[in-house]
Amino acid sequence: MHTKTIAQLAKGLQAGDYSSVELTQSYLERIKQHQNLNSFISITEEQALTTAKQADQALAQGNAPLLTGVSIAHKDIFCTQGVKTSCGSKMLDNFIAPYNATVVEKFNAAGVVTLGKLNMDEFAMGSSNETSFYGSVLNPWATDTVPGGSSGGSAAAVAAHLAPGATGTDTGGSIRQPAALCGITGLKPTYGRVSRYGMIAYASSLDQGGPMTQTAEDAALMLQIMAGFDPKDSTSVEREVPDYSSDLNNSLAGLKIGLPKEFFDAALNSEMAATIEAAINEYKKMGAEIIEVSMPNLKLAIPAYYVIAPAECSANLSRMDGVHFGHRCTNPADLNDLYIRSRGEGFGTEVKRRILVGTYALSEGYYDAYYIKAQKIRRLISDDFNKALTEVDVIMGPVTPTPAFGLGEKISDPIEMYLADIYTIAINLAGLPAMSIPAGFIDNKPVGLQIIGNYFAEAKLLNVAHQYQQVTDWHQQTPKGFE
Ligand code: GLN
Repeated sequence: MHTKTIAQLAKGLQAGDYSSVELTQSYLERIKQHQNLNSFISITEEQALTTAKQADQALAQGNAPLLTGVSIAHKDIFCTQGVKTSCGSKMLDNFIAPYNATVVEKFNAAGVVTLGKLNMDEFAMGSSNETSFYGSVLNPWATDTVPGGSSGGSAAAVAAHLAPGATGTDTGGSIRQPAALCGITGLKPTYGRVSRYGMIAYASSLDQGGPMTQTAEDAALMLQIMAGFDPKDSTSVEREVPDYSSDLNNSLAGLKIGLPKEFFDAALNSEMAATIEAAINEYKKMGAEIIEVSMPNLKLAIPAYYVIAPAECSANLSRMDGVHFGHRCTNPADLNDLYIRSRGEGFGTEVKRRILVGTYALSEGYYDAYYIKAQKIRRLISDDFNKALTEVDVIMGPVTPTPAFGLGEKISDPIEMYLADIYTIAINLAGLPAMSIPAGFIDNKPVGLQIIGNYFAEAKLLNVAHQYQQVTDWHQQTPKGFE
């Protein structure tokens, strides 16, 4: 049962082949059996079984929503009422959210069962899941390597079939990069497509929630529930949500694929380049046309991001002061001591580094030199993409420069770690939607293909991804020991 996709499970539940309680129990057992992966921070067994029972009743009555009784898990960045919502930090280790994020609320309303909360880099800052207060997550494909981050728990859980789907968030690559390193499908929607209400903010102008699944077909089903305007999020876009499943089988004949020459430069290792080229060849066979495009400002994406994201996080994380939110030190001498020690004890090294960088970049005298400059670069990068997307339907390239790297390999060198997102960050700066889909293996480690589309072109991306998954079986591979 556990290797089935969301689409298959939904069908089986509707047909009465098994109950939601049976399905939920089987996942809960697997989660406990594979706890060494450390992909879950909290397992919400009791609530899961209660919801599963309700789902079974709804299914028995007929006309239950499509995904009723299917189980998923949420990245621990989404607030879940009455359940610990830690964001991977000691700061929020004892935070029980008093309300649900809109995304969580929508899945609940659709009758979907929540198995628990998934491990992640602290406050979503990282590319390896090693900055989590709860320890590293292991990549099920090779347990001495990282699963990627920051949605590493989500990616590892789906790859190991501990849940058929999971939510993730992507500020600079955190859905796509772990999806690539764990061999699953990940979709970062257009900025504003999915509500950020109740999704703990890292960098508000970049953060976007999205689905992490085995297949594009499943990503369409999850996005259908997640997407839409939310009056509680002023940056969510008031725009109709299309039927994401209806275009999956459109022909790709005549599809124009842009390949940015800057994506295939020296930073990309040769085996990765060969794997991506093989994937592009599959698209040629399906009738796609390949066009070289250029993104001259792409090389500025990492420096611009590492000014903008820290600047926004330094503001967002100021609420974690031991008074409004978060860990409070014992016996503070006075108010300053309370702030200093609470924040000093509650935050990990990477989070502190970002708060310092961001506070500096926003300070008087430096604001124009760093923050304003980075915002100007951001516009140039958007313009590069917008120009290319007038010539082509989608842009393709790698997701990561290498397959999964070793645990501990990059954690002491922040710049090395930042470079893990060299192909994903620019897309967040531009606010565009993008996917990572499994496209092969190097030394038994998964490789992801990135597909980038125009604003609100999620249905097109899902179509392009789904067609590839009809002619390849990379997405159906299961890591050894997790069959
Ligand atoms: N790795 C990037 C960072 O550390 C992106 C993280 C994310 O997308 N949340 O900021």
